[in-house]
Amino acid sequence: MPEKIYYNDKNELVVPDNPYIPFIEGDGIGPDITAAMKIVIDGAIAKTYNGTKKIEWLEIFAGEKAKTKFDTFLPEETIQAAKDYIVSIKGPLSTPVGGGMRSLNVTLRQRLDLFACVRPVRYFEGVPAPVKHPEKLNVLIYRENTEDLYAGIEWEAGTFEAKKVIAFINDNFNKSILIESGIGIKPMSEFATRRLMRMALKATIRLGRKSVTIVHKGNIMKYTEGAFAKWAYLEAEENFKNETIKEKDITSGMDLKGKIIIKDRIADAMFQQILLRPDEYDILVTPNLNGDYLSDAAAAQVGGLGMAPGANIGKYAMFEATHGTAPKYAGLDKINPGSLILSAVMMLEFLGWTEAAVKITAAIQKTIAQKTVTYDLARQMEGATEIKCSEFAKKIVENL
Ligand code: NAP
Repeated sequence: MPEKIYYNDKNELVVPDNPYIPFIEGDGIGPDITAAMKIVIDGAIAKTYNGTKKIEWLEIFAGEKAKTKFDTFLPEETIQAAKDYIVSIKGPLSTPVGGGMRSLNVTLRQRLDLFACVRPVRYFEGVPAPVKHPEKLNVLIYRENTEDLYAGIEWEAGTFEAKKVIAFINDNFNKSILIESGIGIKPMSEFATRRLMRMALKATIRLGRKSVTIVHKGNIMKYTEGAFAKWAYLEAEENFKNETIKEKDITSGMDLKGKIIIKDRIADAMFQQILLRPDEYDILVTPNLNGDYLSDAAAAQVGGLGMAPGANIGKYAMFEATHGTAPKYAGLDKINPGSLILSAVMMLEFLGWTEAAVKITAAIQKTIAQKTVTYDLARQMEGATEIKCSEFAKKIVENL
């Protein structure tokens, strides 16, 4: 009988052998990649655990499918199910640019307080990449998910609210913002920064990784981005004193065994660093906006968004593909499902089903090495056979 995942009274996650996992199919290519993801995950679990474990998929609705079925893009029941079942997975959801409704992704992250967006970026041998040594990049990005310019506190140019906020700032703080400007607010707090850094440091210790780099633009935005760096360092100093050392405190010949090195880099310099010295970076901790840019740039460096997984984690966890709905490929059974499959691999690791996760990662590597890949990889790989999204999933299962 399927059961719910829950937290016990010691606040530990308890995962039954037959857990319900809610999924949102998503818009555009969402249905294609969700179907492919389920083929691989179910196949890997069946092959790994001989029928003793099985996921009970439970469809919940958001985006266009929810609008058609329930006349709302994000039903309350969806939020409630993501809370009740704790762990869920979603395909991409479309968002109009420059007006219309608020991003459903941002709303989900905020309503569920999924405060960390976690994105591993690593190279799969054989994937065409734009740099000479893509294998040198292997980072795990912790991006703050609830604050910064993404908090959605902004007003359109010319509105009563925009004018009122601008007039207040100009009159009270001796500033001269043009009254007809649009305006957005960038809140960043010690609370949100420190809980993100805490989660990143715990993962660094658990995974035996070497360094944490705080990425910020504190030279310009001192009281938001600068404070982010200051608070992140404070968390390391106050709660991880024995396990960490600041890069600037390292002297030559010092024994660094068992110490996590805490570095910080200005965001623009960091974009150069991941290209020029990728192997010097390990875990990256970033504010919301910088993290969004940096994770896509890093993903491109190892071969593109088709293979970049992600998760949004707080008390609840929602795993998701990092790319969008790629509308021109919707329903063509063409797109690369790798991002959502690898997000589901992260989900299996989160559930503690690591044996299945390891098997899938190896099978993906094997499938790419055989050069049987979707269009995005095939168009850049010499001698590759282009296969459909669903065929790619089946090939991975064969290679498990
Ligand atoms: P996109 O959907 O990510 O697609 C941009 C391009 O990236 C595609 O045309 C394709 O490039 C490539 N790509 C994306 N996913 C791929 C995959 N699985 N396999 C291979 N290539 C892939 O970005 P967008 O066109 O800017 O956004 C479309 C919509 O998605 C927007 O409404 C946006 O708001 C939304 N979005 C949602 C999320 C989310 O739900 N988390 C995230 C980002 C964007 P080629 O054309 O070169 O093949």
